[in-house]
Amino acid sequence: MTRDPGTTARRTLLRGAVATVGAAALGPLTGTSARADTPAEPPTAQGSRAAVRRLGRYRVLALLDAHGTFPVAAAAAFPDATPEAWERARELDPPAFGPHGTWELDFRCYAVRAPGGRITLVDTGIGPVGSPASKWAPVPGRLPQSLTAAGIRPQDVDTVVLSHLHEDHYGWSVTPDGVPVFPDAQYVVQQAEVAGLAAGDSALRYVVDPLRRAGLLRQVDGRCRLPGPRGAGAGLTLFGTPGHTPGHQSLLVEGGGQRLLITGDVLVHAVQLADPATRYAFEADPALARRTREALLAEAGRTGTVLATPHLNRPFLPLPAPDAPRH
Ligand SMILES: [Zn+2]
Repeated sequence: MTRDPGTTARRTLLRGAVATVGAAALGPLTGTSARADTPAEPPTAQGSRAAVRRLGRYRVLALLDAHGTFPVAAAAAFPDATPEAWERARELDPPAFGPHGTWELDFRCYAVRAPGGRITLVDTGIGPVGSPASKWAPVPGRLPQSLTAAGIRPQDVDTVVLSHLHEDHYGWSVTPDGVPVFPDAQYVVQQAEVAGLAAGDSALRYVVDPLRRAGLLRQVDGRCRLPGPRGAGAGLTLFGTPGHTPGHQSLLVEGGGQRLLITGDVLVHAVQLADPATRYAFEADPALARRTREALLAEAGRTGTVLATPHLNRPFLPLPAPDAPRH
């Protein structure tokens, strides 16, 4: 989501010019995760279940790493949000609204299971005590327990997609002493993301350098297909969604005539779903982030794509098919 929001929040947050682009292209959300998702995995130690979506021969599992309070108040994190967008966001994601204006959020990863059990993991959460996210996020995360509860062993993971290199997205990639947690995986990140890291960024020391040394870092440039069963309208496609960070990427899962998009931090709060023009205060390039978000959500709305986001408080957001009735 951000690097050190506490520090960044101390900067003056400049008010950007915000054009009001309504959510008309997006349309209303339909369904709920409770109804639409299949709780097909055994309960975790916390008693929760991994929500699952099936797309043809793929299954997408939502794996919770943590839930907590963001260290910056919601109004400061989204300084340009309109009252109408806040009102709609309350309807879309009520648990995001904590006491005294706090922002309550999930930290979630996704696993895509292909036939034969091979796994593509998207993001690795906030990590253990001692991870770079420890200074602001509710460590330790519980991704290891969530994986175990879903029947996924570290060696089952073929590919780890890192949507971007903020510390709440790479925390369980390696141990604090630099050993890859998923020893048989290629860790896929955009070249532009690595190139955009400042010298001294904790991501270099904590995750990029250890993965490079282990020969497990795979840098890609823009759109690419990941291994998995293909066919007409089926497969896993990575593509760049820059703005939140220079080399941010998202993963499209297609199968069974359906589409699901694991967005990463293209949107981090329902207020950006209510109004995609809403700026988040911790974006590297706010104007580019907004263009990316508006285009992605408009396309998702047109194509009836299910959104899977790390930080909203429900794992899957079904969007209406293009000709679905509005209400
Ligand atoms: Zn994040």
